[in-house]
Amino acid sequence: MKVWFIGAGPGDPELMTRKAWRLLGQADVVLHDALMDIPGMKEAAPHAQWLEVGKRSGRPSVEQAFICRTLVALAKRGLTVVRLKGGDPAIFGRLAEELQACRAEKLDVEIVPGVTAACAAAADLQTSLTLRGESRSVVFVTPRVGKYETGAQGEWLAAAMAAQTVVLYMASSQAKDLCAKLLAAGKAKDTPLCIVENASRTGQQLKHTLFEIAQRGLPALEGPVTLLLGQALRYAKAQDSGLEKPITGQQAGWSYGVA
Ligand code: SAH
Repeated sequence: MKVWFIGAGPGDPELMTRKAWRLLGQADVVLHDALMDIPGMKEAAPHAQWLEVGKRSGRPSVEQAFICRTLVALAKRGLTVVRLKGGDPAIFGRLAEELQACRAEKLDVEIVPGVTAACAAAADLQTSLTLRGESRSVVFVTPRVGKYETGAQGEWLAAAMAAQTVVLYMASSQAKDLCAKLLAAGKAKDTPLCIVENASRTGQQLKHTLFEIAQRGLPALEGPVTLLLGQALRYAKAQDSGLEKPITGQQAGWSYGVA
């Protein structure tokens, strides 16, 4: 009896690993998140039963305890269970709770990593999240504090201030306020900030400054959104707001095209 926790990547089925694809083919049942191209992924397991157990911000969603119970119950029936999670299962994916539920019932587990949204967003922006000599740290952080969590308010800010490149997950609904807090805490007004919607699939990539978003907030976007900020993002290829002066690569001692 085994449960496979598989990272499905950011959405494009081609960004799934070969291992993920192969193991899906052995699944009897697949419990999957909401933010995925399910028809594309179903090709890997056309005969399995696919159940959506996704949690979507602001919409009715399946309780975590129910997901844990279902995983355990299906595996104990002797079925091969795949828990398919968006991006990488270990990043903001409630993996810990689900692992614990499986371990408590002595079920074997295995984890297959996936491409997390930050990496897919950087790829869409055709940019690096690190810059030699300039950006040596990247933080993946969320300002979202769950219903039953305590004491976490503001922790995201300390983490974001400590890193040179900041990738914000689950942050779009509060973007204006978050950017104002980052400015007040000391990030520079002209810090490049990119907005990537639906990374790896069709979505918008926009480039602004921290100040602009603190003033105006985000435009309305449909898909999941990742925000990336820091000097490394000045090389991002994205629709420019037109309000900022592009900074050339010469400052960093080397040069290449700046979008
Ligand atoms: N485990 C996932 C993250 C789950 S949290 C991972 O590793 O990527 C959900 C958040 O991830 C969303 O609110 C959004 O901020 C981000 N996200 C997930 N898929 C995305 C995508 N295709 N494009 C942009 N952001 C995405």
